[in-house]
Amino acid sequence: MMAQYLEIKASHPDALLFYRMGDFYEMFFDDAVAAAEALDIALTKRGKHDGNEIPMCGVPHHAAEGYFLTLIRKGFRVAVCEQMESPAEAKKRGYKAVVRREVVRLVTPGTLTEDSLLDARRHNFLAAFAQVRDEAALAWADISTGALHVMTLPVVRLGAELARLAPSELLVAEGSEADLAEIVSDMGVAMTEVSRGSFDSTVAGKRVAALFGTQDLDAFGSFARPEVGALGAIVDYLEITQKGKLPLLRPPVKELTGGSMQIDAATRRNLELTHSLSGGRSGTLLATIDRTVTSAGARLLERRLSSPSLSLEAITSRQEAVTFCIENAHLARELRDQLRKVPDLDRALSRLALDRGGPRDMAAIRNGLTQATQICALLGSSDLPPVLSDTLANLQGHDGLLTLLDEALVADPPLLSRDGGFIAPGYDGDLDDARKLRDEGRSVIAGLQSQYSDFTGIQSLKIKHNNVLGYFIETTAKHADTMMSAPLSETFIHRQTTANQVRFTTVELSELETKILNAGSNALEIEKRLYSSLRQAILDKSAQVSAASRALAELDLQAALADLATAENWTLPEVNNSRDFDIVGGRHPVVEAALRKQSGAPFVANDCDLSGGDAASIWLLTGPNMAGKSTFLRQNALIALLAQMGSYVPAETAKIGIVSQLFSRVGASDDLARGRSTFMVEMVETAAILNQSHDRALVILDEIGRGTATYDGLSIAWATLEYLHDVNQCRALFATHYHEMTALAGKLSGVENATVTVKEFEGEVIFLHEVKRGAADRSYGVQVAQLAGLPAAVINRARDVLDMLEKNEREGGSQKALIDDLPLFAVAPEPTAPPKTGPSPIDQRLAEIIPDDLTPREALDFLYELKGLS
Ligand code: ADP
Repeated sequence: MMAQYLEIKASHPDALLFYRMGDFYEMFFDDAVAAAEALDIALTKRGKHDGNEIPMCGVPHHAAEGYFLTLIRKGFRVAVCEQMESPAEAKKRGYKAVVRREVVRLVTPGTLTEDSLLDARRHNFLAAFAQVRDEAALAWADISTGALHVMTLPVVRLGAELARLAPSELLVAEGSEADLAEIVSDMGVAMTEVSRGSFDSTVAGKRVAALFGTQDLDAFGSFARPEVGALGAIVDYLEITQKGKLPLLRPPVKELTGGSMQIDAATRRNLELTHSLSGGRSGTLLATIDRTVTSAGARLLERRLSSPSLSLEAITSRQEAVTFCIENAHLARELRDQLRKVPDLDRALSRLALDRGGPRDMAAIRNGLTQATQICALLGSSDLPPVLSDTLANLQGHDGLLTLLDEALVADPPLLSRDGGFIAPGYDGDLDDARKLRDEGRSVIAGLQSQYSDFTGIQSLKIKHNNVLGYFIETTAKHADTMMSAPLSETFIHRQTTANQVRFTTVELSELETKILNAGSNALEIEKRLYSSLRQAILDKSAQVSAASRALAELDLQAALADLATAENWTLPEVNNSRDFDIVGGRHPVVEAALRKQSGAPFVANDCDLSGGDAASIWLLTGPNMAGKSTFLRQNALIALLAQMGSYVPAETAKIGIVSQLFSRVGASDDLARGRSTFMVEMVETAAILNQSHDRALVILDEIGRGTATYDGLSIAWATLEYLHDVNQCRALFATHYHEMTALAGKLSGVENATVTVKEFEGEVIFLHEVKRGAADRSYGVQVAQLAGLPAAVINRARDVLDMLEKNEREGGSQKALIDDLPLFAVAPEPTAPPKTGPSPIDQRLAEIIPDDLTPREALDFLYELKGLS
């Protein structure tokens, strides 16, 4: 066995080998050491190899999925090695023959299909990046849904695309990992090197075409060489990891760069679109707006939100669909009720294709298609806008498959096909016969039992079954003598005596047993065969099933957006090809929802008008910290994004000329992992914005230059704003705490000042969160510091220093001379906490007693005692 293990392990050196032994997966040698530590399970030893003990650990096979996930999250890959025959079959080949084993699958982050390992509401993409000289392309597939896409992509845009798709695994050609590490490092993507041959476009083209049963790829469009290479690498990797069992993939769809709003990785992170800064889904825009009721709908929402459209036509037709659902609220509600019953068709289909599915996946397809048919009938008579009416064709026409599944499957089939019991009675005559025999056998056994107990006069006699003896007759030990002496001993053959029981069999019972067993295994065989043919029937219609699933997801998404718009009082934005950006009464959906949950405080809606015609239009926003500047900046970016995904927006009215690039540089976070200072990160991101944005961009800059000395920072912020205005000529919101910059509004025609207002009341600052035209009068830094709880002595001293500095400035004195002359810190620190004393007598007494030990009477006495102490 060890020889077999070592041979298999040799061909999977970079994966942990899960070696199946009976009900366990065992790991040996270094794999065992690594897995025991990663999984926090016991490391044991087994036998010796080259004189050394062999480390070993194992996990039960039925719980293996959870362990896969832990290992994958920790960066391991797992090779699953199964027994390909039973020990009995192996024995037939020879007394010492080892059970044949094979690796049936490599588990990697991008190739998961199990429901328990996947987030139902998110895609799980496997991506491949191919480079051929100066050209490059990215392909990506979700094997759990069958989606396959590809796009030509210069390497400089790779980071942004990876941020959009958030794949869990990226395939790159051998030797290129180091070059790409910088781009990929903070994406949470596992990079896997595969052979260069796997990317070779000639071979790759044939491999992909073969998958779809065509001569070449022309049938699906024309693909550049790197595109073919990237697609080929994905298919090759799937062949390797799934050991030849290819998942169902739909033909490749070519995406155009420039088809959707360009949003780079930093902007996505900053705006917390689909992943929050802490990594999860909660607190993101996606989580806040997600009202979909199906998993496929949720995944579609994430896709749309990640790639807002640039096509006016697409945007308006999606808007029409949402509007229709709002105006026909009753119908939309019924639609959502029906959709709630739709299972995850895509994932059921992909499991069936990989032969990892079961009867329950078939039932999911049956239930989903039944719902599709009903939804089609529900919507059929309405005058639908195109986005909705286009779905109807795919919702119907499943009658053949539906009838088959309806007739073949029971209502609630078991998860696994192994034990049978999923084919409905009446579907297959042979199966019905076999089952009848099997079940009748059982009632014959029951009959036999009462016959025997009459015959022997032993009322407690039972016929039972176990795996060792099969069927047997059992009586208590006190009847042993009667049973084992004539005349009963002629019929009853003794099999076993236990502490309390004696067990027998009869010729009649043995014969019956054989008959029942044969009928049972015969029924199982038939069910297995029927399972295969049903599976094939479903796979033959996989294109139609997945089209139905897409149609249902689209309906779900539009109805969900309508539900959101109605519940949250959102408005239909006017999107056009101008350079308008005029928001009245805009809100930040995530902050608004958070406020509602936390304090019930209302969100203050704000206007933003960046409609500058042909020229730049920039608002320079000043105001104290905590006033709401970042919120205002982000909310406008989010409104543009929501509008272009076809949704309503959180505002009273909104007019938006299509934004083709969205850039944001918000807040400063240290990027220690990459060894860059806050300031460096800020400058790298600002450089990217200034170098890339054009006049259709919407740029959001918050506190540029904060990370360095005042005059450096001010100069950089100043020059950045001028450049945005003169060169990039974009629409922008620029928040700063450098009041000096407000002077720019007078110098640059496209720059306007705006401020978030606050009120001062008895020396304290009250945030009104209202954005008004004009410059902030002062920064209120000291007041905010006070709110934060700085000691009163520090606040008072800061006020004095500030007063002197401001007075000096008004009077034209030299700041340096003043600072040199400032009187020393002279305020005596105020006591901040009450003087410390020991515990009071009451505390002491309380500490001494244990309430549970007291009788009611003692407790009452104790209360009196305490009262006396107070
Ligand atoms: P700044 O960027 O000016 O420091 P933030 O935008 O971070 O301020 O806002 C600080 C807090 O003020 C937010 O977390 C939110 O609770 C609250 N806030 C911001 N804008 C609004 C608003 N328009 N209405 C109500 N509360 C708001």
